[in-house]
Amino acid sequence: MRRSKVDAAVVGGGVVGAACALMLARQGLDVALVEGREPLPWSRTEPGLRVFAIAPDNAGLLQTLGVWPEIVERRVQPYRRMRVWDAANARSELCFDADAFGRCELGWIVEHGLLVDRLWAALRAEGVTGYCPARVTGLEQRNGVARLRFEDGGRLDAGIAIAADGADSMLRSLAGAKVTTHGYGQRGVVAYVETAQPNEATAWQRFLPTGPLAFLPFGGWSSIVWSLPDTEAERVLALDEAAFGQELTNAFAARLGAVRLASARTAFPLRRQLVDRYIAGRVLVIGDAAHAVHPLAGQGVNLGLRDVAGLRRGIVDAQSRRVDWTAPHRLQRWARERRSDNTIAAYSFDAINRVFSNQETHLSLLRGPLLGLAGKLPPLTRALWRRAAGL
Ligand SMILES: Cc1cc2nc3c(=O)[nH]c(=O)nc-3n(C[C@H](O)[C@H](O)[C@H](O)COP(=O)(O)OP(=O)(O)OC[C@H]3O[C@@H](n4cnc5c(N)ncnc54)[C@H](O)[C@@H]3O)c2cc1C
Repeated sequence: MRRSKVDAAVVGGGVVGAACALMLARQGLDVALVEGREPLPWSRTEPGLRVFAIAPDNAGLLQTLGVWPEIVERRVQPYRRMRVWDAANARSELCFDADAFGRCELGWIVEHGLLVDRLWAALRAEGVTGYCPARVTGLEQRNGVARLRFEDGGRLDAGIAIAADGADSMLRSLAGAKVTTHGYGQRGVVAYVETAQPNEATAWQRFLPTGPLAFLPFGGWSSIVWSLPDTEAERVLALDEAAFGQELTNAFAARLGAVRLASARTAFPLRRQLVDRYIAGRVLVIGDAAHAVHPLAGQGVNLGLRDVAGLRRGIVDAQSRRVDWTAPHRLQRWARERRSDNTIAAYSFDAINRVFSNQETHLSLLRGPLLGLAGKLPPLTRALWRRAAGL
């Protein structure tokens, strides 16, 4: 049933928005979720092309929300190792091994469609009011209330409205928050491939002058994210299957033998984008609406889920003290922490992309020793991994 007033309205039902709506509902709030498009049902037979490397802290969040066991039961791929090397310095390799960290896995590869499917099922079971399909086209803020207006003329009042409507967020701009955007002039080409040799539950990444190329294990297949300059991405997407497989085999230095395309291919534009404020009146900005980062570290959705985990910590703390979680100083604390974490991540990935994705001699001389050095210092390797894992 549609409501006219809720405690919190989340706009955007992607992974981050749906997780946020579920988290708020589990904390006992009256929540509405507004989404422009009905999500496609997850398919057991046809894996979705967009997959995420979910970090351990976020698997923990999804466990707390009660959806992780169902996700694991359907289809996830744990990865136990990471191997990172530079095309110009093949002998210097950075290795991360779950065994060395006393863990069974470093993280899990999960389809975007499966995460959304299970989060939405949990939202329905929880009785969260869904507005779908519904697009937010207007916002008024008055007397501590955010009034959302929909394309179809409907409206909804919320104590807090959360913009989780992606990198081109409408609610963010209606709230007056600005973004600074840096286009990488690159696209991430994604597809599933078969390799002659098994992927060994390893996430592989080779840095090429054109951009990083990742092979993520997914059952008997690998899911690739091939970052390329725009024109190169267009060119490889237009190649026939055999030529695409051959170029990919070469780009990956045949590390897993010959590569064969096993699915459709698509590409996403890559950008760094950061919002100027996470709070605009009664509107909070989270997920890609607040920060879009280069996919080279597989952290995009992880940062968004950490926005949700941070909000959850604030709400749990406020509830234990019987105070208002939306008090300005409490929300500001959350915003400060998230801005710091997300900004550091965005610029670190930026720096890595700049150092590795170019042909300048002095930088190519630096890259191998950099990776080699990091690989030879176990405390540094451990620290790098702990940061990526959110531990
Ligand atoms: C090539 C590539 C590979 C990537 N690989 C990884 C990876 O390995 N690991 C990782 O963590 N991240 C990865 N990312 C990043 C990841 O895709 C994003 O960080 C993540 O999808 C953001 O989730 P979100 O819920 O914030 O936004 P989105 O997924 O963009 O969801 C936004 C939702 O809002 C809805 N919406 C939009 N406007 C409105 C409106 N006006 N009203 C109502 N609803 C609206 C949309 O329909 C959508 O459902 C990758 C990105 C790219 C480009």
